Amino acid sequence: MIDTIDIAVNKVAESSLQQVDFNNIVFGKKYSDHMFVADYEDGQWQDFRIIPYGPLSLSPANVTLHYGQSIFEGMKAYKNDSQEVLLFRPLDNHERLNISARRMCLAEVPEELFMGGLLELLTIDSDWVPQVEDTSLYVRPLLFATDENIGIRPPSKFRFMIITCPAGAYYKRPVKVKVETHYSRAVKGGTGFAKAAGNYAGSLYPAKLAQDMGYDQLIWTDANTHEYVEEAGTMNIVFQIGDSLVTAPTGDTILKGITRDSVLTLARDWGMNVEVRKLSVKELIAAAQSGQLKEAFGTGTAATIAPIGVIGHNGQDYNLPENRPLAQKMKKTLDEIKTGKIEDIHGWTLKI
Ligand SMILES: *Cc1c(COP(=O)(O)O)cnc(C)c1O
Repeated sequence: MIDTIDIAVNKVAESSLQQVDFNNIVFGKKYSDHMFVADYEDGQWQDFRIIPYGPLSLSPANVTLHYGQSIFEGMKAYKNDSQEVLLFRPLDNHERLNISARRMCLAEVPEELFMGGLLELLTIDSDWVPQVEDTSLYVRPLLFATDENIGIRPPSKFRFMIITCPAGAYYKRPVKVKVETHYSRAVKGGTGFAKAAGNYAGSLYPAKLAQDMGYDQLIWTDANTHEYVEEAGTMNIVFQIGDSLVTAPTGDTILKGITRDSVLTLARDWGMNVEVRKLSVKELIAAAQSGQLKEAFGTGTAATIAPIGVIGHNGQDYNLPENRPLAQKMKKTLDEIKTGKIEDIHGWTLKI
């Protein structure tokens, strides 16, 4: 049971919902009417409020602007056929937010605050959850330090917020990825397992270089040897080699994706052989050459399943087969669970 929290609600005078074309959503452009805000000061969370979405006023000495003590989460809300709003595995996002918070010296967010704010916000903005196929309301919780002090020390004031925005289909076609053998996203002992702002800042330049070469994204490899596959862009990555589903174990450098876990669980439900183990680039390329590499896809909340069409390595492009029955079945099944069309035997969805 979640204890209730007291939230002050200040609604917009007029909704801007009519400005959204749900058949043509541009992701991240238009945000829903309201946002949830909570502040941490004097050792406690306080001042819980839902207010009109809008800019923040921050001191130029705000520590986060200088040192990046900022983390986030991402999840999606869907509507079922009875117009009820469903969230997919929000408690897992809450758990991971606090894992990230600990690594970044941020105050943890109690479950009643995270879930209380989330449920109230989505109740108020439920009309923003679209119903068109392949659309959803993207939910972005964020947590950052608000100390006005450019001294470097663990911060003591924090803000937790939740904003939301409508989302359409992510990648419209299979992606072309390049195995990165110079830059790294994460290192042993580093912050790769946290959804920390700085991780993304550091990954943009290498990704841009790959885009300049005609690729959509990178396959990150381990920082020490660049011999083992870790993630793809900001997604986990899984491969079908022969009849097995192969993916690297999560840890320091590989973020524990909720979609990844859902995919592995479904694969096991279907009787597939799932191998969670290190996968070398060498093995991957050999499998691509021999035809044993049947499918590859990224997994993450934004895209759910992002099929990979081409893998580039050392100037050579390897094309994957054009039919992708596993990626298709995964995407379809996850979509059907998320929108309440098929039974949710794992208890993943939460009805608001
Ligand atoms: C968010 C994220 C993922 C995917 O996690 P999901 O819970 O499936 O959305 C994978 N890798 C990185 C680096 C991420 O930031």
